[in-house]
Amino acid sequence: MDQIRAILTAEEIVEQTDPRYKKESQVWSAHKDLHPQFLARPANTASLCGLLKALNETDLHFNVRGGGCGSASARDVLITMTAFSDFEFHKGETENDAYAIVGAGLLWRDVDQKMEELAPGYVLTSSTLQLISARCPYLGVSGSTLQGGLSWLSSEHGLSSDPSNLLDVEIALMDGTLKWASSDPELLWALRGGGGRFGVVTRFKFRARKYAEKGLEAIRGQTNTMMTAVIIPEITEEIIHRAFKWYDEALIREPKLNAGTLVLIEVMHKAAFQSVERNATGWPRPRGGHVLQLGSGALYRESTPEIHALAVDTLAKGAKEILQQYDAGDCMPRDFEEFHDASQIFGENAAKMVEIKRRVDPKNRLAGAYSL
Ligand SMILES: Cc1cc2nc3c(=O)[nH]c(=O)nc-3n(C[C@H](O)[C@H](O)[C@H](O)COP(=O)(O)OP(=O)(O)OC[C@H]3O[C@@H](n4cnc5c(N)ncnc54)[C@H](O)[C@@H]3O)c2cc1C
Repeated sequence: MDQIRAILTAEEIVEQTDPRYKKESQVWSAHKDLHPQFLARPANTASLCGLLKALNETDLHFNVRGGGCGSASARDVLITMTAFSDFEFHKGETENDAYAIVGAGLLWRDVDQKMEELAPGYVLTSSTLQLISARCPYLGVSGSTLQGGLSWLSSEHGLSSDPSNLLDVEIALMDGTLKWASSDPELLWALRGGGGRFGVVTRFKFRARKYAEKGLEAIRGQTNTMMTAVIIPEITEEIIHRAFKWYDEALIREPKLNAGTLVLIEVMHKAAFQSVERNATGWPRPRGGHVLQLGSGALYRESTPEIHALAVDTLAKGAKEILQQYDAGDCMPRDFEEFHDASQIFGENAAKMVEIKRRVDPKNRLAGAYSL
């Protein structure tokens, strides 16, 4: 252990008493914390390579940590990569050449911020450049990419470790050498989803893609999506089966409905809908506890009056088909399409709601989302 301490500078050693120790060794799953004897925080690649070479000659237990969400820990030495925080953005000659070099110690939220800073103007126009990253901003770039990398854009562009997204990786090997893994195609192949067992990655080279707009903004306002959310008492196998049958059949009837057709089943805790008495608020709380959310519709630019009517019809029938015992009063008061009936949703409170509306808006001027 002393031998390893000796090859690092004082600044590169984080002892258990150091205020940085907790932050840079924190795991996601408590039982995986091995309480490392100290953290090695190499300041640069030369120091990292020297450290690996020295560790290779010992029987110490060590590991490397990116963002800590994968609960990387070690009994003896945990290498923390936070000093590897460099970021470069290269726009390239053509749109397809854009790429970013991302330091292995960064979290995805740091990368998002740097992308915004280094691609100025894009946010204000209709397009911005994004990497195919993971979905949670606090994940480390390293662990999430090396272990596969499922991103919000994966349905369109695959995983972040795919060859089309992860172009190359700079890696320090156990013999103390440093290389770009593209010089060893087998190694690069293994790193794409094979995890961090082959060496310590110092930098990633990711392709950057032009994306229509920022994140979900890209689909905002582009689709004739209609929604309904029904509160249901239990989620059964039959409900799940019928929900996906409903989805598949809708797309067979009209493939263009794929843009806005969705099934979202949310498993909730009891407290979500039963936190107060049923009539404690204007909307009488439903008796169920989970959410079946359905959507249907085509892209605005592809929709015709016929397709739109089909989407409305599909959605109006959806909950009835899926639940079989459907009560229109179990819908949440947040989606109002032509088939929703506010008087049923507000049930026994509907008359009082009308009375209050008359008192505070006697001319009935403010439209709101529904009429009663
Ligand atoms: C709440 C939560 C949400 C998640 N969401 C997603 C998601 O949306 N998409 C997704 O794809 N995954 C997701 N995951 C899984 C996540 O990708 C893994 O937990 C991943 O290991 C996190 O990476 P990290 O760098 O934060 O973890 P760490 O614990 O730091 O690292 C995990 C492992 O990666 C390796 N490693 C780390 N850094 C390096 C390096 N520089 N060089 C070589 N190997 C290294 C080590 O083997 C280490 O044991 C989620 C996990 C959690 C807990």
